[in-house]
Amino acid sequence: MLVHQILKSKPSSGVQSVPASTKVAEVARLLAKNRIGTVVVSEEGKTADGILSERDIVRELAKSGGGCLDRSVGDYMTRKLVTCTPQSSTEDVLHLMTDGRFRHVPVIENGVMVGLISIGDVVKAQLSQLAMEKDALEGMIMGH
Ligand code: AMP
Repeated sequence: MLVHQILKSKPSSGVQSVPASTKVAEVARLLAKNRIGTVVVSEEGKTADGILSERDIVRELAKSGGGCLDRSVGDYMTRKLVTCTPQSSTEDVLHLMTDGRFRHVPVIENGVMVGLISIGDVVKAQLSQLAMEKDALEGMIMGH
């Protein structure tokens, strides 16, 4: 399966993004409210300039305490992003996530961010593909 097929099947392909000047506390509220694990950092929502995940916030809280909540996202975001394209396969994306030890990959087409794939999206796609293959094999064995 390809990334653009996953994006099409998601209820909303919009990406939750915030400008780098947003306070970390505001992002924590956003993550909790929307039940998501990360925000992409972007001035206008079109480029992916960085990413801040719940792990970044927890790490900084443990390191320097609650003061980090009043700092800007730009102070803690990961700037060197690994991205994929709509034509990437789910296997490629899983390899990126496993090798890089992260659970989110922005989808970029011609320099513009068109979606975000989470490890949950990839696992769901893989499971539905496995179920389809199982049905097809059972059909062949039973002679349907
Ligand atoms: P996550 O597993 O997505 O919560 O992220 C774990 C760590 O990897 C955090 O420090 C994130 O900022 C970073 N991270 C998440 N996604 C990416 C990505 N696509 N490229 C590079 N770093 C990332």
